[in-house]
Amino acid sequence: MEDCLFCKIIAGKMETEFIYQDEELVVFKDISPQAPVHLLIVPKKHIANLNQLNKRDNNLVGQIYQVAQKMAAKYDIDQSGYRVVSNCGQDGGQTVNHIHFHLLGGRELQWPPG
Ligand code: C5P
Repeated sequence: MEDCLFCKIIAGKMETEFIYQDEELVVFKDISPQAPVHLLIVPKKHIANLNQLNKRDNNLVGQIYQVAQKMAAKYDIDQSGYRVVSNCGQDGGQTVNHIHFHLLGGRELQWPPG
């Protein structure tokens, strides 16, 4: 997707540092962190949001949670706790239309979110 910001990041056009990457996904720091640890886990494949996931993506979703677990350990928040969230659509607060999972931690997070 030519006009997709995260596709550009994934293609290496934005000089974003990847904390982790494999064949299916990348992880980088959110540009506007909402917690001491705020990472974005982003599939390389362009999927607009949760509504577009299908059965063929089941392994991908599993992989995302495996990587979230690894990143939580890497940033030493696995024991204190953390949150993984994917905003979907306007009311969900989605601003970038390429599916991504926020990994937030390093402070006590509030519930419910706004
Ligand atoms: O869930 P939502 O779509 O709002 O999340 C998009 C996230 O992408 C935001 O947290 C925003 O700070 C982040 N972002 C980024 N780098 C950019 C543009 C947006 O990390 N260049």
